[in-house]
Amino acid sequence: MPTPRAMVIVGAGHVGGRAAQALRAFGWTGPIVLIGAEPHLPYERPPLSKGLLTGAQDAASCALRPAADYDADQISHVVAWVESIDPVQREVVITGGPQRAERRIAYEALLLATGGHLRRLDIPGADLPGILGLRTLDDAAQIAAQLQPGARVVIVGGGFIGLEVAASAWQRGCEVTVIEGAPRLLGRAVPEAIGAQVLALHRARGVEVRLGTLPTAFERQPDGSTQVTLNDGTALVADTVLVGIGIAPATELAAQAGLALGRSGIAVDAQLATSAPGVFAAGDVAEFPSPLGGQPIRQETWQNAETQARVAAANMLGQGMAFDASPWFWSDQFDHQIQVSGEPALGASVVTRPLAGGASIDFHLDAAGRLVGASGFGPVSALAKEFKLACMLVERRRQPSPEALADVGVKLKSLL
Ligand SMILES: Cc1cc2nc3c(=O)[nH]c(=O)nc-3n(C[C@H](O)[C@H](O)[C@H](O)COP(=O)(O)OP(=O)(O)OC[C@H]3O[C@@H](n4cnc5c(N)ncnc54)[C@H](O)[C@@H]3O)c2cc1C
Repeated sequence: MPTPRAMVIVGAGHVGGRAAQALRAFGWTGPIVLIGAEPHLPYERPPLSKGLLTGAQDAASCALRPAADYDADQISHVVAWVESIDPVQREVVITGGPQRAERRIAYEALLLATGGHLRRLDIPGADLPGILGLRTLDDAAQIAAQLQPGARVVIVGGGFIGLEVAASAWQRGCEVTVIEGAPRLLGRAVPEAIGAQVLALHRARGVEVRLGTLPTAFERQPDGSTQVTLNDGTALVADTVLVGIGIAPATELAAQAGLALGRSGIAVDAQLATSAPGVFAAGDVAEFPSPLGGQPIRQETWQNAETQARVAAANMLGQGMAFDASPWFWSDQFDHQIQVSGEPALGASVVTRPLAGGASIDFHLDAAGRLVGASGFGPVSALAKEFKLACMLVERRRQPSPEALADVGVKLKSLL
């Protein structure tokens, strides 16, 4: 009997780890090779900007699974950079080891779970060693070490990562300034009203937020601090600078191999299959048809990684499963939380439901009155339970009356 080819996964992040686990759980008995550039077993990234920076969590608690589970499942974790893939020979080419020797691994099916690369600023000083970004455990360890009480922290980018780091740094007693080029926080990721509430929260806690402002240069000072020059003619002095301006999906392997790309990621169909036979893509790197609206979308969320990994694994085994999960994500800042379910951007009208305890949920309805999204903000204790019901309403694409959605006297449960 010839040895069966391996199920190969490129990228040992959240998707990679969960897909390897699912392949075994779904009955694959041949080799599973999980290849990743980072020296760690797969881990969850959400704590990197939260508990890992505040000190509430340690690196070990971020692990996706205990190390022993990989041995028990006979998953080979290879720390190496994948240079290229050959969809005709069905092989991946890796380099690793002290001699950077080349090695080829033949695959039965291949999953590209390569996530994204941090976007960099194109301004003088952007490559100085102290200009930090946050994507990996090692990045988080480096940032955490710098968040000493009284440290001056400048964060470029008022998106989720920038604002979460701002809140964590504030909790560590740092003086925090957030620079955002747009006139509002959180771009198009949340409705404008939530962006405004998040701004008010940060300012109320003492984080300085400068909207409509961009850095134009970073310059190292003799005392080791960094001068951040801004486009309004002013300058800030920082002990730590974090640039959080998003990621570019890591599509380079797919592009080199001639796989179809979408507008913003590797193009996949509803089964997460790429244009090459036996090659799948999932997670932050994949652009897939929205289960709600059909248009191509890409998601950078924990839940997307978690659910797409399983669907990709099933389809690597030929099960023909469609990905139909409704999007959902959260962001924790201070004792507050943002949660978004579905696709608010598909909404034609909004109904606001105030909740006790200072939270609220906006329900987004399409032209036919069908729920296509919900977005909520407020103290975690006031939002979490009600938002679970909001998610269920969106997932079930209910068509409740706007009056009932807005009326706190009507229980959300009764609308399910
Ligand atoms: C700081 C931070 C906080 C977050 N907080 C939240 C949150 O609160 N809520 C939420 O919903 N989501 C959150 N997310 C998003 C969520 O963590 C990601 O969507 C998820 O990690 C994506 O998983 P992935 O497997 O697609 O990519 P990743 O987890 O990024 O894994 C990709 C891996 O592929 C490796 N790789 C890439 N190219 C190659 C190659 N050629 N060879 C070998 N290896 C390669 C990379 O090194 C990386 O380890 C957060 C993300 C970050 C970074």
